[in-house]
Amino acid sequence: MSRLSSIEEERRGAQAALAQATEQGVHRLAIPTPFQVGRVNAYLIEDEPLTLIDSGPNSAKALDELEQALAALDHRIEDIELLIITHQHIDHFGLASILARRSGAEVAALSGLDTYLRNFREETERDDVFAEQTMLRHGIPADVVSALRAVSASFRAWGSTVEVTRPLKDGEQLQLRDRRLRVLHRPGHSPSDTLFWDEERSLAMVADHLIKHISSNPLLARPLGAGEDFKGPRPHSLITYIASLNETRAMDVDLILPGHGNPIADHRSLIDLRMRMHERRAQRMYDLIVKQPRSAHALAHELWGNVAVTQAYLTLSEVLGHMDLLIDAALVEEQEQDGLVRFAVV
Ligand SMILES: [Zn+2]
Repeated sequence: MSRLSSIEEERRGAQAALAQATEQGVHRLAIPTPFQVGRVNAYLIEDEPLTLIDSGPNSAKALDELEQALAALDHRIEDIELLIITHQHIDHFGLASILARRSGAEVAALSGLDTYLRNFREETERDDVFAEQTMLRHGIPADVVSALRAVSASFRAWGSTVEVTRPLKDGEQLQLRDRRLRVLHRPGHSPSDTLFWDEERSLAMVADHLIKHISSNPLLARPLGAGEDFKGPRPHSLITYIASLNETRAMDVDLILPGHGNPIADHRSLIDLRMRMHERRAQRMYDLIVKQPRSAHALAHELWGNVAVTQAYLTLSEVLGHMDLLIDAALVEEQEQDGLVRFAVV
């Protein structure tokens, strides 16, 4: 099939899937972000209470486009009665405090994420300290680390402190007038990833747990609820993520609505594709370590060149995730010397 016709096929498939969701009262609102990922999907559920899943980032442009998207559906921000937050990343919840203030909506989020959102500034500061220590320990040069810290601090403006009024428990059912949403904690991409599953309609809103056009990165993150003196052990984000994906794979669901990009009709083949990619990636890293023990940053540099500098934390998270897989398989071990970690074959 030519590239043009496969793009056309993807577009038609996405339109049909979105139309199917619309019929069920779920509308995708694609909100602009200043980030490389592009637009973020919020979902409006026309039910009682009128529900919005995720808000987009805290920016005038996002607010303006959200208002327009709501107006096209004959709604205003003031009409929103329930705002659900899927996870702790600012492109998904930054506008939440403005929306909650203007609408008086209840704000629902996973228990644990509520504390994080309430103490947004302190929590992200702690995240930065954790990231900084991790980067230095795994071979990222100090000047790169401090540059990234500045970038992270500047990004904080797109987030906000949010008061969660309705903490959610993993496994509970959120009852709206016409539907029930099962709350599922599926960490890995972030510690707070939460899925909302409408079993009756075979539909799930999954945010960044599974995305069609890009693989969700299992970012290395401080565990939910960890204090400022958190020292480890290092969270195993990719292992956690793979376990979460396996649980999602076992779900019977016709349509998955992700946090970025188009709906996913066949989640099992997409998950299988991701699993194979992680296996291949682990193998490539293993082959490099066989030749010579290396730090995680050196591995990232070998694999991705300069991207290992511009996207140092992201690529470090990738490498450490795969190191965890290799360590679990007893193929690789971690060696520490003078505060610097290198990975070597067992
Ligand atoms: Zn995310």
